[in-house]
Amino acid sequence: MSESQSNPGLSRRELFRMSASLVPALPLIAMAGAAMAQAPASKAPAAAAKPGTPTCNPVPDTDPVAKAIKYAPDGSKVADRPAKMGVEGKDQACANCQLFTKQGEANGQDIGKCTMIATGCVNSKGWCTAWVKKA
Ligand code: SF4
Repeated sequence: MSESQSNPGLSRRELFRMSASLVPALPLIAMAGAAMAQAPASKAPAAAAKPGTPTCNPVPDTDPVAKAIKYAPDGSKVADRPAKMGVEGKDQACANCQLFTKQGEANGQDIGKCTMIATGCVNSKGWCTAWVKKA
């Protein structure tokens, strides 16, 4: 009886060949294990977000796109908002902008993603020069 007939799985010869092929990789496997052991354990898995919890941080002041389109987290503080698409400047806000998608709430205010700004969430009461009337 041959080896393969006595064992329908891998033969001893095949197992030996597979083991031998792993030998050159052992130092890499050991290095990966050591690196994982030295990695800081402080990175706890993120807690599940509660409904209505913001899933992103406010747009940073340093965002170049936000600066270019003159994003203001509180649009009411921008005095010279021009009328656009039949909507008075004072009535324009992220909340009624086509590019706004609500993500949650923060400090009693809706916040969301803006198609224009990738670095964080905008306030629903925010405003910028790229405002587009929501369809
Ligand atoms: Fe807000 Fe719209 Fe400007 Fe984005 S494009 S910052 S949603 S007003």
